[in-house]
Amino acid sequence: MAQNALSAVWVWVAHEKGRILEASREALIVARRVADEAGGAVVMAVIFGQEDEQVLAELATYGADLVYVAPEPGGYAPLSISRRLAWAWDHVVPPPGVLFCPGTRMGREIGLRVGAFRGVGGVSDVVRVRWDDNGIVCDHLAFGGKVQCTVQGVEVVILRPDTYRVRPAPRPLRVSSLPEGEIPAPDVFLVEVRKADPRTVPLEQAEFIVAGGNGVRDFRLIWEFADLVGAAVGGSRVVCDDGRLERSRQIGESGTIVSPRCYIAVGISGAIQHVRGMQNSEIVITINTDRHAPIHDLASLAIIGDAHAVLQALIDEVRKERVAAVPPVGTP
Ligand SMILES: Cc1cc2nc3c(=O)[nH]c(=O)nc-3n(C[C@H](O)[C@H](O)[C@H](O)COP(=O)(O)OP(=O)(O)OC[C@H]3O[C@@H](n4cnc5c(N)ncnc54)[C@H](O)[C@@H]3O)c2cc1C
Repeated sequence: MAQNALSAVWVWVAHEKGRILEASREALIVARRVADEAGGAVVMAVIFGQEDEQVLAELATYGADLVYVAPEPGGYAPLSISRRLAWAWDHVVPPPGVLFCPGTRMGREIGLRVGAFRGVGGVSDVVRVRWDDNGIVCDHLAFGGKVQCTVQGVEVVILRPDTYRVRPAPRPLRVSSLPEGEIPAPDVFLVEVRKADPRTVPLEQAEFIVAGGNGVRDFRLIWEFADLVGAAVGGSRVVCDDGRLERSRQIGESGTIVSPRCYIAVGISGAIQHVRGMQNSEIVITINTDRHAPIHDLASLAIIGDAHAVLQALIDEVRKERVAAVPPVGTP
């Protein structure tokens, strides 16, 4: 296919409990932009599972023109989904000029397998995508983010999560079903789902993070509070540099990029390099003695006070609540 005649862009969309995952919203928005830059190609979302009203509404909100719904193979089935997508590539008109996948664990597996099945180039950790006269151009990170490379001519693009700004781009959405075809049975089965231990969960997957900075002298309070409320612990570079926290817990542009539902920043000033790592958090709570600290600009709730006093008060309060919630012995 001539690269400059892009007619369709596909997005494999990950969804859970009626919601599209944020990384998939990013993929949809990027696909929409590329389709527009290419002169009005169609954005086709492909979902595996039931036709869910809420999911369809979200697809329309984030720029899909068409959604193909395919039956859920069941279990953890990236291989089955990849085979089905590779098969559909040859049977759906128009075929995709490019397939976008979110950079989730499953999205990576699917994208790279589809590329391998089809014998086309794929690239992951993509941080910038554009369309020019010669086709799609991707900037992607390599060697753990130390090197950025530019590639052209790939047909599978796996985006780095938490990188793209998601803004609604509503379109009318048409719903279709993938043509009948073999759906390979899953070859891996989900045996059990266990709740992740916040102490060991990778920071990029944590939904709740308590992060300490240079304003925290005693990190035992951070750990105690985080354990009580089931949060993961992170920190600024300064505290990782001097060993108050291990390096793997550094949040920021040269550490881990996170996007939890809630981020509590304790004694962190809000340097730009730190902010780049946590600015996609849904709710930010800041605790800092300096009312002018830049971190407060991101806060849904800013607490002006000493980190140790506030943490101790929060620990005491949570403990009190827990005790009050336990019924006295003898209560029916
Ligand atoms: C190339 C490069 C890459 C970098 N990458 C990163 C990165 O990935 N992540 C990162 O974090 N930084 C990074 N940095 C460093 C960054 O510029 C800042 O130096 C760092 O984020 C500051 O950490 P901090 O906010 O904990 O410390 P400080 O700047 O020292 O701020 C401490 C804050 O604590 C407050 N405070 C003091 N005492 C108390 C108290 N008792 N109670 C409550 N608050 C108190 C102060 O008011 C202040 O706001 C990078 C720098 C460079 C040059």
